[in-house]
Amino acid sequence: MIRYGQQHITAEDIEAVIEVMHSINLTQGPAIPRFEESVKYACDAQFAVAVNSATSALHISCLALGLGPGDYLWTSPNTFVASANCGLYCGASIDFVDIDPRTYNLCPKALEQKLVVAEREGTLPKIVVPVHFSGQPCDMRAIHALAQRYGFRIIEDASHAIGGRYLGQPIGNCRYSDISIFSFHPVKIVTTAEGGVAVTNDSVLAEKLGLLRSHGITREPHLMTRPMDGPWYYQQVALGFNYRMTDMQAALGASQMTRLHDYVQRRHELASRYDDAFQGWPLTIPWQHPDGFSAYHLYVIRLHLDEIRPTHRQVFEALRERDIMVNLHYIPVHTQPYYEAMGFQVGDFPEAEQYYRETISIPLHPVLTDAEQDEVIEVLREAMRV
Ligand SMILES: *Cc1c(COP(=O)(O)O)cnc(C)c1O
Repeated sequence: MIRYGQQHITAEDIEAVIEVMHSINLTQGPAIPRFEESVKYACDAQFAVAVNSATSALHISCLALGLGPGDYLWTSPNTFVASANCGLYCGASIDFVDIDPRTYNLCPKALEQKLVVAEREGTLPKIVVPVHFSGQPCDMRAIHALAQRYGFRIIEDASHAIGGRYLGQPIGNCRYSDISIFSFHPVKIVTTAEGGVAVTNDSVLAEKLGLLRSHGITREPHLMTRPMDGPWYYQQVALGFNYRMTDMQAALGASQMTRLHDYVQRRHELASRYDDAFQGWPLTIPWQHPDGFSAYHLYVIRLHLDEIRPTHRQVFEALRERDIMVNLHYIPVHTQPYYEAMGFQVGDFPEAEQYYRETISIPLHPVLTDAEQDEVIEVLREAMRV
C-alpha cells in the first residue's frame, strides 16, 4: 500500500522518546522548551508554545487575540475544518474567502472585495486565517496590507508549511501576521504523533497562549492579579484548558526537527520527478508562485476532465483499487453539513468547489521511494487512460 502521506521514524527518534520515559518528567518537563526552541529556531520567531494539536493552537490563538461572540473569523474554504471551527469554539461567526485558482490559497483580491462590502455592512472580521495550502505560502504581503487598512488580526494556519519559505524567509517568522500555527500530526512534514505549536513575536500574546494551554493558571508573580500567599501558590487568572503536549511527544518532535531540511528537500525532489513525468498529460501540476518555496506537504493534480474519458471519481477509485491511497484535500468546508446548517450552500465559493471536483492528492512523503513513485505514475497513467 502506498499512502498519500506518511511519517518517517528513526532509531534516534525512538531513543529520544525512551529517554524521556526513563526520566522523572513525562509532561511539563524540559523536553517541551527544547522542542519549542527547535521550532522557534527553524522559523525564526521569538516565542513558541507547544500544545497537543494544531486545532488547540488555533483555538487558543483566537482567544489570545480576543475573538468572541459577535466577532467574525474568515478563512479559506479549501482547508481542514479546524481552521474554521476554532472561531466557532470562541462563539464567533465564520465566513470564507474564495481561493485563487492557481495557488488554491485564499485569494487576496476576493478578500479585498469582501472587505469593502463588510465595511459598508459593519461585519468586518476580527481575525483572518490564511492557510498555506499544500505548504505553499499565501500572498502574505497583500493580506497584511489589507489587515492594516481594515484592522483585522492574522493567524497563519501553517499546518502544511513548516520548512517552507516566503520571500526568502521561513514561514512562521510572523513578519506578516500575529501568530502562526503548525501541526505535527503524522501525516504532516514533521510529527509528534499529535501536536501543534503556535509561534509569535509578541510577548504578551505568548504569555496568553502559555496560560490558555494550561487552565489559565500561572506561577509567575508578574502575571498574578494578587500578591502571592506563599511559595506553594498559583493563581488562575483566565479560563484555560489542558492542551499540553507530553514530554515524549516533544522529544520525538525535537528529534524529527533535526531532519526538517532533509524532509523538505526530498519532498521537492519527488515533486519535480512528478512534474517531469506529467509533462504533456491532461492535468495541471501544482503551480508554484515565485515568491514562495513550498514545504510540499501535498502534491495535488488537477485533472482536465474534458480531455479524458474517465470521471474524476473513476480515476480516484482506480488508484485506490490498486492500493495507491490517494486523497482529496479538501472538501470545501462551507459544504459540510454542519456549515450548511448555518446557511452556507453549494455555489457560495465557486473556485473552491470547482477545484474540489477536479483534484486528487497523490502520494508524497519522505519514505516514498523512486520505484514506488514510478508505480504511482504508471497506475495513474492507466487510470486516466493516457
Ligand atoms: C492538519 C491540519 C489542521 C489540524 O491539525 P491537528 O494537529 O490534527 O489538530 C489544521 N489545519 C490544517 C490546514 C491542517 O492540515
